[in-house]
Order: sequence, then C-alpha cells, then structure tokens
Amino acid sequence: MEEIQMEKKNIDWSSLGFGYVKTDYRYVSNFKNGAWDEGGLTTDDTITLSECAGVLQYAQTVFEGMKAYTTEDGHIVTFRPDLNAARMVDSAKRLEMPVFPEDRFVEAVVETVKANAAYVPPYGSGATLYIRPYMFGSDAVIGVKPANEYQFRVFTTPVGPYFKGGAKPITIRVSDFDRAAPHGTGHIKAGLNYAMSLHAIVDAHNQGYDENMYLDAATRTKVEETGGANFLFVTKDNTVVTPKSNSILPSITRRSLLYVAEHYLGLKVEEREVYLNEVKDFAECGLCGTAAVISPVGKIVDHGKEIVFPSGMEKMGPTTQKLYETLTGIQMGRIEAPEGWLKVIE
Ligand SMILES: *Cc1c(COP(=O)(O)O)cnc(C)c1O
Repeated sequence: MEEIQMEKKNIDWSSLGFGYVKTDYRYVSNFKNGAWDEGGLTTDDTITLSECAGVLQYAQTVFEGMKAYTTEDGHIVTFRPDLNAARMVDSAKRLEMPVFPEDRFVEAVVETVKANAAYVPPYGSGATLYIRPYMFGSDAVIGVKPANEYQFRVFTTPVGPYFKGGAKPITIRVSDFDRAAPHGTGHIKAGLNYAMSLHAIVDAHNQGYDENMYLDAATRTKVEETGGANFLFVTKDNTVVTPKSNSILPSITRRSLLYVAEHYLGLKVEEREVYLNEVKDFAECGLCGTAAVISPVGKIVDHGKEIVFPSGMEKMGPTTQKLYETLTGIQMGRIEAPEGWLKVIE
C-alpha cells in the first residue's frame, strides 16, 4: 500500500451534497470455494464482472449504510458498526448469500475509514464520511439459484450536511404502491427493495411530495415506513411511538433514538402497530435514518386529505428537536455515549 496521506483533502465540506465522490481506498474480499479470502484495501474503484453475474441477473445483493464523524475532541468515530454487521448477516441469509463475519465487517469498515481519513470532514462542518459496505453474487448464474462466488466491498464518500440552512419539515403522501409484502424482504437491506421503490418516489416527486408513506400491504391500514427511513411519532402527551411490523427495516437510528428518548430524555416509548387513522392525533412526526438522523414531517397527504402536525412547516417539533440534538450530540462526542455506541477509529 502506498503511504496514506493524512492531511485533509482540499474540499469545501459545507457545500458537499449527497453524491458520490471517489476516495482513495476501498476494501475488497472475495468468497470462492466456500470461503472468504483474506481481503484488503485497493485503490481500484472499478469492478469487472461476468455478463451473467448473479447480481446483474437476479439482483442478489445486500448493503449497509453508516457514517464516520469527527468528534469535538478530534477523534474519528463510527456509530454502532456492530449493528450494521449483524444486520448484514440477516440480509445475506435471507438472500442465500454467505455471511461475512461480523468482526471482519467492523475491521473492514475501520480499515477503510482509516485509509480515507483525509476525507473525513472536520468537526463542525456538518459534513460526514458516508460508508457503504455491500455484497453481491459475482459469478455466472443463469438458472435461478444462488451464486457460488461473492464479493464484499466497503467504499466511503464524503457527504455534506443533510439540512443546509436548518431542517425544514417535509410533506409526504400516502402511497398507493406497496414497499414490502408480509413475509417478504422488507426487513432486510436489499437493493431489490430500492429498485422497486424508484417508480413510486419519482412519481411522488412529480406530484410535489418529498416522500412516500407506505402502508402494510395486507390491509393497507397500518403505517410501515418510507422508502429509506422509519417513522417516529410523538403523541400530545409526549410519548414517542414507532410502528412495529415484520416488514419494516430495523433502522439503527430509530432504535438508538428510542433508547435516547427513554434513557436520556425520560420519555415514554412505544413500539406498536400504528394505524393510519390515528396519525392525525399525533403532535409531531419524523423520519429516521443514518442520512439525516431525523427529518421532520410537517404534513401528510392521504388522497387529498391533509394531516398537518401542530409542529407546523417551519421547524422541527420540540421533542423531535431534543431527540435530534441528543443523538447527534452523542455521535459528535458532546454528550456521553452509552457503552459501546462509538467505535473510535483514531
Ligand atoms: C437503511 C434503511 C433505513 C434506515 O436505517 P438506519 O440503520 O437508521 O440507517 C430505514 N428504512 C429502510 C428501508 C432502509 O433501507
């Protein structure tokens, strides 16, 4: 490996968007003859594959998304990478892919971030280093069956502050498309869940909405999630509520926010079925995921019927704001983290 340049890159961090910026190193490990190879870093950002690779023909691919941050005292950390590792195991098993060992997953993330330390945005810039671990079937598959060979990779890309100039509440619609079937793949992080959401999100944008609220496919009466974020609601008496369903992707941000609500803010929390017809009674609504932590939702439109939350269209609701500040405070090292939440890289 060439010597890694630790001086920060000359990037205008605050004007970065959420787009791919090539960094210097990525991690690659190959699975062949029933075993993962030793793996390691490479500077090659391209992949050469069989035209018949399992990922290309039958979408046999899963991924993860996480971030590296610079804390207030100048360390580079990632947030709960062990949970991403465990979730990727669940995703891989559901698509008949070999498991990439959880400890090796975390090591690969650490190695890749360390090698790209020059791209980790400084504290206070609002920007972060997005980390994308993923795995795919790489050998030729024409009959419908799992591939025999796989590649696991991790790349990083610096991304800008999610909210430029403050978090403005968004407007979402109740979608007529379904995201996930009961007993399907909604609970795993598979590219296929995103491929089929593309039409729905383009259509939502064309109709002037920021996101889709998906309902449970079986009864279309219960709230599931959006294409890439879980819901949090706050009741008028300040209980934090999140939908429970087997077809929701178990967001690490959502699980962390519920912990923060209970143990840092002393709030009551509930994970339960949430019916669409009770949404109008909530005081606040937010979407949670790694990208934004929480995006406030100001309005939900259900076929012309508008639900406007009391928190309004100008700013986050007060409890959502507290949750956001506490979790980002933990991630940036301003507030003491629960044991094991921050993995210090250097
Ligand atoms: C990744 C993802 C989320 C958010 O999960 P985090 O672990 O918080 O980033 C939510 N919903 C879906 C469908 C996702 O793919």
